[in-house]
Amino acid sequence: MPRVSFERIHKAFGAVTVLRDLDLSIEHGEFLVLLGPSGCGKTTLLNMLAGLTDVTGGRILIGDRDVTDLDPKDRGLAMVFQSYALYPTKTVRGNLRFGLASARLPREEVERRVAWAARLLQIEPLLDRKPAQLSGGQRQRVAIGRALVKHAEVLLFDEPLSNLDAKLRTEMRLEIKRLHDELSPTVVYVTHDQIEAMTMATKIAVMNNGVIQQFGTPDEIYERPANLFVAGFIGAPAMNLKRARILRRGGLVAGVFGNGQQIDLGDYAFAKAPQEGSEIVVGMRPEYFGPPDAPAREAAAVFDLPVAHTERTGSDATGYLRFDEGLLSLRVEPGQAARLAGGQKVRVAFPKGKASLFDAATGGRL
Ligand code: ATP
Repeated sequence: MPRVSFERIHKAFGAVTVLRDLDLSIEHGEFLVLLGPSGCGKTTLLNMLAGLTDVTGGRILIGDRDVTDLDPKDRGLAMVFQSYALYPTKTVRGNLRFGLASARLPREEVERRVAWAARLLQIEPLLDRKPAQLSGGQRQRVAIGRALVKHAEVLLFDEPLSNLDAKLRTEMRLEIKRLHDELSPTVVYVTHDQIEAMTMATKIAVMNNGVIQQFGTPDEIYERPANLFVAGFIGAPAMNLKRARILRRGGLVAGVFGNGQQIDLGDYAFAKAPQEGSEIVVGMRPEYFGPPDAPAREAAAVFDLPVAHTERTGSDATGYLRFDEGLLSLRVEPGQAARLAGGQKVRVAFPKGKASLFDAATGGRL
């Protein structure tokens, strides 16, 4: 079964190194999302797999074939671009056929595949139109169809939804997910949008500065971020990251924040027992806070804090409480948000077993 492997990949543009010693394996049928901020090197990595950018060092394998120096058309891949890259003078049918131009297939097979893709993507009524007569979402479907007709083992997507409005993006996310469930190709998908990553990926590689920061399932990455970068990058509103010092007394292990508030860390699975006084960063996701008396939620911390302000985004609301030098964000019921006045003190609890801890010096997960 083909699997895609990047082995010790190095990429420099002139004197500037953009990817360093990168190893990554993608299993057959996996939906891998390369996720990271602008400029982190994800498109460069995708383009190297596609054969559109050459590799400075290392090799790329598809199955047991070394494709590092192969021509793009000989790699068994199909790619969907952010800009769609449709031929304006060809009809939708012509664009779909063009996906197979280099395959030298019998005419009936070409027509069979075009009809199959058009049905799958529900663009049959559009087959005789030109790209200029299509909406953005329809163009995107044609671009995906043109990749699908190749029956490629590996499908590559470069930010395919970034030119669509929010509603269409949601629709296309579901559509791409459905296609993956039905056809199970190996997918490598580049985006800086964490919602796309969390909703579609079976695995996510979070990148920053040309280095993979964490590779794991969406759940692993959300619940157990490997370092402060991942913790801050994944989640909206972002995870609260607050500096604290380890306090050990008798059997007690706690974190003491700058404002004197404490969090019980007795149940945290430290890889190595923390030293008294060591500097840590405590990560607390906004949605895990609740009222202190909530049933079945044993509290690790209870904070009494003044409200700074609240923010409503339709079905969601976030409360910001003054904490130490900064703010602590927590998700609140939209109805409740309206009742929280600035300056008012509220008592909130953070449950046991939900904190992420990081070494303040290295940023690595403890
Ligand atoms: P974005 O989301 O903005 O596309 P990205 O994570 O995909 O970002 P890349 O496009 O891979 O980032 O770029 C990584 C780095 O390499 C950037 O600093 C970019 O300026 C640089 N870079 C990319 N292509 C070239 C090139 N042809 N020549 C010189 N530098 C380049």
